[in-house]
Amino acid sequence: MSQSVTEPSGVSYNPKNGRGGARSFTLAGSFGCNKGATVESRSANRVEESGEKGHEGVWVFIERDGGGIAGVSKELLGAGRKLACDLGVPLGALVLGDDIDALEKEAIVLGADRVYSSRHDSLRHYRTDPYAFFASALIKKYRPEIVLIGATTTGRDLAGALAVELRTGLCADCTALSIDTRRRLLVVEKPAFGGNILASIVCPKRRPQMATVRPRVMEPATPDPSRRGEIIRENLHYEENPVALSILGFTKEKDVSADLASADVIVAGGRGLKSAENFKLVEDLAQALGAAVGATRAAVDAGWVSYAHQIGQTGITVKPKVYIAVGISGAIQHLAGVQTSETIIAINKDPEAPIMKAATLAVVGDLFKIVPALTREIKRLKGEHMRR
Ligand SMILES: Cc1cc2nc3c(=O)[nH]c(=O)nc-3n(C[C@H](O)[C@H](O)[C@H](O)COP(=O)(O)OP(=O)(O)OC[C@H]3O[C@@H](n4cnc5c(N)ncnc54)[C@H](O)[C@@H]3O)c2cc1C
Repeated sequence: MSQSVTEPSGVSYNPKNGRGGARSFTLAGSFGCNKGATVESRSANRVEESGEKGHEGVWVFIERDGGGIAGVSKELLGAGRKLACDLGVPLGALVLGDDIDALEKEAIVLGADRVYSSRHDSLRHYRTDPYAFFASALIKKYRPEIVLIGATTTGRDLAGALAVELRTGLCADCTALSIDTRRRLLVVEKPAFGGNILASIVCPKRRPQMATVRPRVMEPATPDPSRRGEIIRENLHYEENPVALSILGFTKEKDVSADLASADVIVAGGRGLKSAENFKLVEDLAQALGAAVGATRAAVDAGWVSYAHQIGQTGITVKPKVYIAVGISGAIQHLAGVQTSETIIAINKDPEAPIMKAATLAVVGDLFKIVPALTREIKRLKGEHMRR
């Protein structure tokens, strides 16, 4: 992979050739679109249908996870690539931080044609004020028509602040994105009215069109180390003084059973367990399987387990290989968070419960008999395996 870097002075810099060398790559009309899917590059000054003028490009805000790009941002680079190809515009990545060289390169490998970045000590950890300041400054200068942000704790916070600063609309917590090519509008889908309808929402009058997208509802971009792109770095002056919040340190969540995002196997419990004491049946089964523990809102509201375990529309969206639902009815708001699971196993005494229709394997029976027996059998099999 190679990339050209444009410093704020406007001088082009190619890491291979040195400062002022020829730019390593020229954006072709087809940008990073698939072979054969040639699209025309359009003028940045066209007039949107009743929208604001002079906005072009799809941007993805790059969130960090440890030293690399967070999963949700990889998913958005994948989705953003398709939107950019449909519009015939470049895909941009917005990268902020104090030490971001590796992130800039990774964003290009994952499909960005251009990386817009800013470095500053204040951007070391996420805080609303500095991130909103730098992000809005870059967006105002380079005027993308679409900005996508992960619907994570960080992304939800930043997107709200940015929408206010940029005086534009924000569609939060979306589950699908597409382009209305005739009107050149972003169409976002999200469950609304308690998940009873799927709303398609557009923002025809303001730019950029902004959306936060739930993690794990889209496929991540496929890395291509041979991709080339352009890095545009902006040095901005920022005073630390006005920052109302400073970070003193981080404490890792002790309850690892709530690490639902990366779990391959999840055992989740619902109101069918009837009490906090009984919820232990779910925890025991999860422990025997080496699985994470999930819960419905009913179980969380009853105080049997903390909110970190809640799965669904107002909880986390999960994508495990195996999802075991114990005493869960499968309300639409719960299913919204589990439907991308590879295999769903439901244990419920009611064969008509909605979860049974969504399940790959529906086990009809009393959880108080089935779950302890299952846990015992798994422990026995594991013991046998260890002895071999
Ligand atoms: C705006 C909004 C957002 C929401 N967000 C979420 C969300 O993010 N996540 C979420 O989960 N919910 C959410 N809800 C709540 C949701 O509508 C349901 O109320 C909730 O999911 C029901 O939880 P449950 O399946 O545990 O309980 P119930 O619906 O009461 O189901 C209990 C199930 O246990 C079974 N059962 C009982 N006893 C046994 C037994 N002995 N053996 C086997 N099975 C048994 C029953 O047959 C039943 O199917 C939301 C609601 C609204 C309005």
